[in-house]
Amino acid sequence: MNVYYPSNADPRSVYVHVPFCRHRCGYCNFALVAGRDHLIDPFLDALEAEAKSLPKTFEIDTLFLGGGTPSHLSEKQLARLGEILFSRFSLAHGAEVSAECNPSDISKSLLNSLVSIGVNRISLGVQSFNSEKLNVLQRDHNGEVAKRAFSLAMEKIGNVSMDLIFAAPDETVPQWEQDLETAIALKPSHLSTYELTWEKGTTFWNRKQRGELDSSNENLRVDMYQAAIDRCESAGLSQYEVSSFASTGKRCQHNLQYWLCNSWFAFGPGAASFTNGVRNTNHRSPTTWMKRILADGSAIDEAEPLSEREHAIERLIFGLRMVDGIEIAGFEEASGASLKSLVGRTIDELIGRGLLERTETFLRLTPEGRMVADAVAVELL
Ligand code: SF4
Repeated sequence: MNVYYPSNADPRSVYVHVPFCRHRCGYCNFALVAGRDHLIDPFLDALEAEAKSLPKTFEIDTLFLGGGTPSHLSEKQLARLGEILFSRFSLAHGAEVSAECNPSDISKSLLNSLVSIGVNRISLGVQSFNSEKLNVLQRDHNGEVAKRAFSLAMEKIGNVSMDLIFAAPDETVPQWEQDLETAIALKPSHLSTYELTWEKGTTFWNRKQRGELDSSNENLRVDMYQAAIDRCESAGLSQYEVSSFASTGKRCQHNLQYWLCNSWFAFGPGAASFTNGVRNTNHRSPTTWMKRILADGSAIDEAEPLSEREHAIERLIFGLRMVDGIEIAGFEEASGASLKSLVGRTIDELIGRGLLERTETFLRLTPEGRMVADAVAVELL
């Protein structure tokens, strides 16, 4: 589904933010509440109201249940979530339905519930198999729990992605390589590797300010990233985006829609949709979002209309996150503008410096360019 659609096309993707977790991990700055499960039913009431505000029903190709932790919902609550969504959306043939899951939540009955609402892809928040590193990250599972969760999910659903974090405090390259090897030996269909980020407002940030935690240095982070690329590629998980690796046919179709900058609906606190050329971001606070939806039918905190040019530039920048890059003819047709007229001179300069390459049909980052992808994006902006 690597197809570009114009910004006024009906969205064919839906993101739902489920803002509940058992506890908040020290590095996490997502919009969520921890230990307040009595809010889950009111959240579903508000979600129903938000979904009902759509003027009609839509057929979609991808649905992503993210968070937070969708797997924190009870089986009854998951069934209701499915009813709410499928009263507004129907799944196209072959649609991808992903659910983010915490390894500690995985059981046969949870997987049955997920399958009964159409889930056919699990994104498992493993982060590491090393119990010491998991402790530092304040995760509530250990390596054995993660392996068991993966096996159960693979047995039931057969399409399981794992998230892994690198550059945790005091982590070494050999420790990271061990995590990669353990993950790869389990044969996931997809792997996402993320460098630990230090977000203001998290307990990790505060502990770093007090000198209790150290972030790793730039060279170490580059070595870890390169180790992920080397290990995954040699195990048949091809890199198709800056942080994403997949076996054949298992690329995340939902995330591809973000990188193609096609339209999508989004529901829940902090969720950002892109429809009809406008990016709408909901209020981040789960309780404020609920109150506003139930009172006014909308909890949009920020509406940002993108001009055609702004949308085309975003398409270019996000598209270059994909290893395949931009498919030039499709990009130009959907954007209504040529690459040359948008940023032709900057592209020529970046090609001259060996950071971009252009084939007859594609424009993409070179391997050197991928190492400095953020700096290339700034130049294109
Ligand atoms: S489980 Fe995930 S979403 Fe929940 S607090 Fe931890 S990192 Fe954040």
